[in-house]
Amino acid sequence: MTSTRHDGDTWDLASSVGATATMAAVARAIATRADRRLIDDPFAAPLVRAVGIDLLTRLATGDVPPDGLVEQVAIDVAKVRARFYDEFFLEATNTGITQVVILASGLDSRAYRLPWPIGTVVYELDQPRVVEFKTRTLAALGAVPTADRRVAAVDLRDDWPAALRAAGFDPARPTAWSAEGLLGYLPPEAQDRLLDTVTELSAPESRVATENRPNPKPGDEDRTKEALNRISERWRAHSFDPDMARLRYYGERNEAAPYLADRGWALTGISVRDLLAAHGLPPLRDDDLRMGDVRYVSGVRNKTTK
Ligand code: SAM
Repeated sequence: MTSTRHDGDTWDLASSVGATATMAAVARAIATRADRRLIDDPFAAPLVRAVGIDLLTRLATGDVPPDGLVEQVAIDVAKVRARFYDEFFLEATNTGITQVVILASGLDSRAYRLPWPIGTVVYELDQPRVVEFKTRTLAALGAVPTADRRVAAVDLRDDWPAALRAAGFDPARPTAWSAEGLLGYLPPEAQDRLLDTVTELSAPESRVATENRPNPKPGDEDRTKEALNRISERWRAHSFDPDMARLRYYGERNEAAPYLADRGWALTGISVRDLLAAHGLPPLRDDDLRMGDVRYVSGVRNKTTK
């Protein structure tokens, strides 16, 4: 199977990689309704509704139960992932960082729901139709950002730093960066470029959070593709075809955590498996997607770099 991806491809929130942002918001909406201890994203359901895919709206708003379509584990992972990045940003801004960059912001509503310290500027970067949709939809809902929210509508394989600077970003100030749910959708060399650029634009004491997926062992990727195909098949039976196996880039790539560590970042991390256990959530079974080994990593840019 080959990827349907190509250089310069674009999407909205109902198609290609954009639909993964909507599906992530569906999981957050279901998780928020189930239990607000780890995640409280009141904007997830209304954003999904506005995207206009009937099945996803009904799942997000609770009209149909997730059974069989959104597995409990996906909901649990949405909870711990949201919590990890929420805590990352709150800790970073508590240290005095006032500049935040959310790479691949999708339908993430942190700029509208986290209690950012006064004076925090939050930049959100994603493809033009994704960014514009969220801005327009949340404004129509009367939502007000809880920080000085600025957007850069840009492809993260292109010259996104120019767009970020044009929006007011100041590389001389420490920044808290996140790349959540992004790296697997970038070609390997674009991932390296993105992490290099984040490093170049990071003043000392900047922070970063992202995911580290270990490189595949023989047979891993076939199992992952089969699992994604099984999931897509279930959605297709309900007239929504995310074709998930074809959206990622496969093969070897530099793992994000050692790559960043080599460039002067002091990182710590925790696997999804351990994070679920730490929050008292059920363990992963039949982990064909190899989610358990994904590590959420975060850390600080050292004063001196290699
Ligand atoms: N971070 C959000 C979250 O966790 O809900 C969205 C994650 S979603 C799985 C992947 C996101 O990456 C989408 O919003 C998609 O538009 C964005 N993305 C992937 N490749 C991109 C690219 N080359 N340029 C801009 N955005 C990209």
